[in-house]
Amino acid sequence: MEERGSPDGDPAWNLEQGPEGPETPIQVVLRVRPMSAAELRRGEQSALHCSGTRTLPPGGGPDVAFRFGAVLDGASTQDDVFRACGVRRLGELALRGFSCTVFTFGQTGSGKTYTLTGPPPQGEGVPVPPSLAGIMQRTFAWLLDRVQQLDVPVTLRASYLEVYNEQIRDLLSLGAPRPLPVRWNKTRGFYVEQLRVVEFGSLGALMELLQMGLSRRRSSAHTLNQASSRSHALLTLYISHQTVSQMPPVDPGEPPAGGKLCFVDLAGSEKVAATGSRGELMLEANSINRSLLALGHCISLLLDPQRKQSHIPFRDSKLTKLLADSLGGHGVTLMVACVSPSAQCLPETLSTLRYASRAQRVTTRPQAPRSPKAKPPQHLEAESLQLQEENLHLRSQLGQMDPKASGLSGARVAWAQRNLYGMLQEFMLENERLRKEKKHLQSSRDLAYSEQRILARQVRELERRLLSACCFQQPGPGPAPPCPCVMVPPLLCHAPPPLCPRCQLCPLCHAPLAHWACPRRELHLPQVGKAEAPGNGPLSARPPPWAPPCCPSSAKCSRERSHSEWTQTQVLAEMLTEEKVMPSAPPLPTGPLNASPVLRGGAAVPNLARRLEALRDQIGTSLRRGRSQPPPR
Ligand code: ADP
Ligand code: MG
Repeated sequence: MEERGSPDGDPAWNLEQGPEGPETPIQVVLRVRPMSAAELRRGEQSALHCSGTRTLPPGGGPDVAFRFGAVLDGASTQDDVFRACGVRRLGELALRGFSCTVFTFGQTGSGKTYTLTGPPPQGEGVPVPPSLAGIMQRTFAWLLDRVQQLDVPVTLRASYLEVYNEQIRDLLSLGAPRPLPVRWNKTRGFYVEQLRVVEFGSLGALMELLQMGLSRRRSSAHTLNQASSRSHALLTLYISHQTVSQMPPVDPGEPPAGGKLCFVDLAGSEKVAATGSRGELMLEANSINRSLLALGHCISLLLDPQRKQSHIPFRDSKLTKLLADSLGGHGVTLMVACVSPSAQCLPETLSTLRYASRAQRVTTRPQAPRSPKAKPPQHLEAESLQLQEENLHLRSQLGQMDPKASGLSGARVAWAQRNLYGMLQEFMLENERLRKEKKHLQSSRDLAYSEQRILARQVRELERRLLSACCFQQPGPGPAPPCPCVMVPPLLCHAPPPLCPRCQLCPLCHAPLAHWACPRRELHLPQVGKAEAPGNGPLSARPPPWAPPCCPSSAKCSRERSHSEWTQTQVLAEMLTEEKVMPSAPPLPTGPLNASPVLRGGAAVPNLARRLEALRDQIGTSLRRGRSQPPPR
């Protein structure tokens, strides 16, 4: 390696700044383990070339190089890894209340457990030599040292669990480990219920807890690893300051609010054919691969900008539930990708490199849990006030600028905005009132229509009777008696047929054709000639003489409307009553608003009835006269 990149040296990782911003990417470092004695015996060569923060797969040019926050080759010591990976920064953030996670990832036998906790213990109670201690032991020592330097008392607790065959087991439980449920709530997210959380005050106590968990964790030997972890292990340190720990927890089993630092030693992905796993080992391998697949799926979805806000299937496995906050939530995360340099492991190594490279693009939104009692620092309070004032000032400026476009004054716009809701309510009430009034008017119109239909029927009947009476009258030798059609015209059922020399029935509707059958009609109907004068068409196409004359201002002649029964009736009614009975739409109310619309709409009806009564009298007289004369031949 020519140069060693370090997240600790990166200005973006400045502890004073905290996480880089609202969106913080997962930091990834790569560790390449040295060739094992067995591999060297087989004469295998290292297939990876590491250069600075890059690693080059064999045969690949610079364009296929993978770049990480730091790349640590086989020559790196455990201490190099601890210093270069940036875990101390995470420790600082955890002290400030952030939730931080360090996890190792890679193929089985690639050195994940070694990187975190050092080589497997050589015997019961035999500690790992300090020079080979992993990231966890080194961080514990650093953290306890750091806590001593703080002038506020800090409470430290720890929990340790494993996910074995999709079951959560408490590695610090007092009795035999039993499966624990994973729950979710709004404040805590996913958490393990009834997990033992042990308070500790010294490095020695914490190391004991670590040893206890390591010894209880499931591991087995297979072709690639003599001490292969068969479970994912999570050791969490809970850090709470006195001010925070004084607050009562939400529920008694809940660990105190504060920072968290979690170490996750994932079980490695393995090809069952390569490891030669059988029976229980194979079941374990399948379970491990399934949960790693779920983890990979979540990471892929988190990377997709379209789907980042949508559903991420963290619930697909216990592992993804427990890592949900570290991957897509409010945590700060560091991933140590471990690979083997052996050419035999190259496909798995490339897969790990690709995976780790993608994980670097996953971002979280780190958030430190704030105590409700905690007061913001004075300078922040002042800054907040200043920003509020600026906000008000800008708003008022905006109010003055807007009217240029709308032509309204700032005060008016503000008033309109304030009253928009009130105006809307008023409009709705008005709308409702108008709707009710329209309904009343419609019922009034319907009532008037039906009355008008009844009257029209009566008019037709009376007229028919009148015309019958007219037919029975025999014209004498003296002066002709006045023709009844002068007083009441016959109903227009169609265009008038050609003139008949004698009174006969209409060939179309069989109504008596009294009016045009009258031989002297021109004497008592001089207006007929005038009305007919402008018409040049056949007589059958001309309007009947009783039709109202065409209004010069009207575009439509009443003749055109004569086919409608409504028009006929209206014409008749007008002639009878000399006032409009019912327009085609209900009349606008003219009376007081609180009067019933029915009464307002039907004012013409009594008048019409009076006229009808008079007409009936007239018909009766005609009939009596007709009966006193001899019947026509
Ligand atoms: P994993 O946890 O990835 O399955 P381990 O950490 O158990 O792999 O390592 C497998 C073997 O390789 C162990 O015997 C371990 O001591 C050894 N090993 C791993 N990394 C290193 C290293 N950097 N230096 C020396 N030995 C290592
Ligand atoms: Mg392991």
